[in-house]
Amino acid sequence: MKGICILGATGSIGVSTLDVIARHSEHYKVVALTANNNVELLYTQCLAHHPEYVVIVDEQKANAFRDRIKTSPVADINVLSGAKALAQVATLAQVDSVMAAIVGAAGLLPTLAAAKAGKTVLLANKEALVMSGAIFMQAVAESGAHLLPIDSEHNAIFQCMPAGYSAGVKALEARRILLTASGGPFRTKPIEELATVTPDQAVAHPNWDMGRKISVDSATMMNKGLELIEACLLFNMSPDQIQVVIHPQSVIHSMVDYVDGSVLAQMGNPDMRIPIAHALAWPERFDSGAAPLDIFEVKHMDFEQPDLDRFPCLRLAIEAIDAGGVMPTVLNAANEIAVEAFLNEQVRYTDIAVIIERSMSHFEAKKADTLEIVLAVDQQARTIARQVIETLT
Ligand code: NAD
Ligand code: MG
Repeated sequence: MKGICILGATGSIGVSTLDVIARHSEHYKVVALTANNNVELLYTQCLAHHPEYVVIVDEQKANAFRDRIKTSPVADINVLSGAKALAQVATLAQVDSVMAAIVGAAGLLPTLAAAKAGKTVLLANKEALVMSGAIFMQAVAESGAHLLPIDSEHNAIFQCMPAGYSAGVKALEARRILLTASGGPFRTKPIEELATVTPDQAVAHPNWDMGRKISVDSATMMNKGLELIEACLLFNMSPDQIQVVIHPQSVIHSMVDYVDGSVLAQMGNPDMRIPIAHALAWPERFDSGAAPLDIFEVKHMDFEQPDLDRFPCLRLAIEAIDAGGVMPTVLNAANEIAVEAFLNEQVRYTDIAVIIERSMSHFEAKKADTLEIVLAVDQQARTIARQVIETLT
């Protein structure tokens, strides 16, 4: 039995992870589940999976949860609160694998703690990797932790890498990566109409059902920008070795182009249970619950170059990785603040890129040598992004 901790159990990835685990319960012991505030869903998950620990970040909600379980069949669960408890449960001795599925920078410290503790880290939380970059990859290398990508593109690339491949290593025979993107809900919308799109329109992704933040990132293609940075780190490639390809059908999840001219692709339905099951079963395979791909229904596949005028956030991400140092940290922090403001209807969709670009212009790409520098820059970039928002509203 493998012990599992799910950071962000109540989110889209967390729910899909528990769905896969429930199909293979003879192999897994759910040790810990964490949630920010969706205690209703967490309670249902506790009844189904009976973890030893839960973390509810909000202290009052954690107290109410303790009272609630007292007379339930899961009265013996240890209920912890506070952000520090996330790292505590991610590093418990009985935990073998940690699903890092918290959204945004809040996931960095517990995910990094899991990596340092040598756990097998199933990484969905791309923001944590983008903001901490080499520091995170070094922690993985030093502890000997296995790092398995959950992001569908990176999981696809990982599957197309040579046998025995480990994240962080440069596969010398790989010439370039073709990182696919759906293009999101606004791929063909007239550019002049983008200023007035609503949050609900932006989160209505044509192929994937995801949390609200990543759905907005998919619409702006900042998601692909973050993924480009993520791919450089996970596969030790330079940005010019990664080609973003718009592939609206989302059947191919990414490709690796090898020196002999072979291009390997991983295909499947757009269902996150596929990469989740791959990483859980790795290096073996088991059923994910996803429907088999019907290639006759797909009929054809299209590929386009991304238009950086339509998707300025992708351009900004390329600029951030080219600048290096703390710039990806700034990009990520400003994006988190800008997307939150858009979802709260404080700013327009087209302001997201403006906020990020103006925030980035306040920073130089100094080295991101230590976690302290990264955390300080993250906070400074958030403050600046909020100031930029004030000037827009
Ligand atoms: P979501 O919004 O559905 O869920 C987020 C989870 O994080 C929830 O459990 C929430 O309780 C928790 N959380 C949020 N803020 C927190 C905080 N401050 N402290 C502690 N916990 C907090 O998001 P999601 O779509 O499941 O995405 C999770 C991560 O996976 C993101 O980094 C996203 O980019 C990545 N990802 C998601 C998908 C997908 O299909 N949903 C695909 C690829 C990558
Ligand atoms: Mg992805």
